Amino acid sequence: MSETIFHKIRRGEIPADIVFEDEHLFAFRDIAPQAPVHVLFVPKTDFATLNDVPDEQAIVVGRLATAAARYAQAEGFAEDGYRIVMNCNGDGGQTVFQIHLHLLAGAPLGRFGT
Ligand code: 5GP
Repeated sequence: MSETIFHKIRRGEIPADIVFEDEHLFAFRDIAPQAPVHVLFVPKTDFATLNDVPDEQAIVVGRLATAAARYAQAEGFAEDGYRIVMNCNGDGGQTVFQIHLHLLAGAPLGRFGT
């Protein structure tokens, strides 16, 4: 997998507002937020797209979702609600080819766009 901007953020070479990190993943605020809360959760195991994650590595993706839920609970908006999204390839709108999960919250969100 090629180097991405998220590797540079993880190494501190590009500044970012990192809100969570553990041995498995790190999370930081999106530079172009699409909601009042927009945080990206990135695993420390690299895959370019969701298509590249083998079944036996499904926990890598699962941890992103549960980390987002724990963050929402810790920040106090879990009961109001939130959305998690993973974009895949061109039609999915993926622009950074290192898997990541978007957490969007902080206001009622519209239905899925077209
Ligand atoms: P994708 O479109 O691949 O699902 O999501 C990539 C996300 O990364 C976009 O929402 C974009 O705004 C965000 N992003 C791209 N470059 C940077 C950056 O340098 N810093 C931060 N914090 N977010 C970035």
